[in-house]
Amino acid sequence: MTPEEYKNKKLDLYRNITGDPNFDKESVLNDELCERCEGACCKTFPCTFSPYDFVDIDDFEYMKSILDTGYFVISYYYEEDECIYYIRAKGLNDRGVVAKSKAKPNECILLGEKGCQLDFYSRPTLGALLEPKSNKLFMCCKHRYSMDQLTKDWLKYQQQMLKLKKYYLFKKRVPNKGKIYKLERIIRQDEI
Ligand code: SF4
Ligand code: SF4
Repeated sequence: MTPEEYKNKKLDLYRNITGDPNFDKESVLNDELCERCEGACCKTFPCTFSPYDFVDIDDFEYMKSILDTGYFVISYYYEEDECIYYIRAKGLNDRGVVAKSKAKPNECILLGEKGCQLDFYSRPTLGALLEPKSNKLFMCCKHRYSMDQLTKDWLKYQQQMLKLKKYYLFKKRVPNKGKIYKLERIIRQDEI
């Protein structure tokens, strides 16, 4: 996908999630507040993708190209008795590609000096749709992508996630910092 096509795909997704037909990044971004806060959310825990962030989650090779960068991991949590696998950015405390949801803080490896190193539309939806409300108080910022919705979305893709988990179990991928500029292109399947 070209940057424009991918941006439009994400805008459709964000408009669908928020129920706001006019949603765009100005609806949530507040650089002044986030700069003062210095990224409390990203320093606490890496944010989670929606399965619809990907161009085609059914394409195993494409999903491998994303996980092979070393910047993203497969993680899981329990909803009642059900184990739900999902993909999120990697944290400084994560080791393998399959990473437990360990105790916080687990600062995101994509947090740079000027905030997230991914552009707004390539970031995981949970982070992109976190609306700043208060500096230094991550809990006060508003999740426009709810955990209920996130769980419902990932539940539909557990078969694909189990296949990826089986492949990556016990594998490690070290992020190549020299290739960080390629991440957005890999996510939007612009360079495989
Ligand atoms: S915790 Fe809230 S205010 Fe702070 S960087 Fe994150 S979104 Fe911005
Ligand atoms: S991917 Fe970006 S927005 Fe999400 S936690 Fe990491 S630095 Fe923050």
